[in-house]
Amino acid sequence: MNMIEKHTKLYNYAGSKEIKNAVANYPIGIQIQSKQDINNWIYSTNQGIDNSGFIICTFVIDLEGYLCIADRHSEHVACSGGNPVFSAGEIFFVPNKNEYEIAEISNQSTGFCPEPDSWFSVSQALDRIPLNHPGEFTMNFIFRRCVKCGLLNLVKENLFVCADCNTELPKNWNCNLP
Ligand SMILES: [Zn+2]
Repeated sequence: MNMIEKHTKLYNYAGSKEIKNAVANYPIGIQIQSKQDINNWIYSTNQGIDNSGFIICTFVIDLEGYLCIADRHSEHVACSGGNPVFSAGEIFFVPNKNEYEIAEISNQSTGFCPEPDSWFSVSQALDRIPLNHPGEFTMNFIFRRCVKCGLLNLVKENLFVCADCNTELPKNWNCNLP
């Protein structure tokens, strides 16, 4: 197994069918192939800078390995057009002169529950643009599905226990639909 195979894994949508159906007609994310694409997207969608000075957006890494972004209120499964992804999360852009830089980036997506290791696919997509990045997720999220009740849990403070039924959560990623 080479490095690429080891670190690239496709994530299928793991969230509720209701959400997937509800967003079926939403616009999919914009594929980012250059820095200009980011500027164009921010301008054309009237993205506003929040109180902290950031433009926050939803992102996925699509089947072609590109970064795709959408409005922060978009579900990741809408951003991906319903397709599996190599990673997903949130990006906080900060303006610098005429460009936008990454201030924060996370794997926070309860739709796909990607692992922190999915950073490898993210870094490849960012290098392709090319866009400077922090070298890792600045915020890591760990998701596990409860084997007893099926609840998708966000593991906090390394406490691998289901928030609903207190069952111990597995150490290995298991968020695919049962
Ligand atoms: Zn449970």
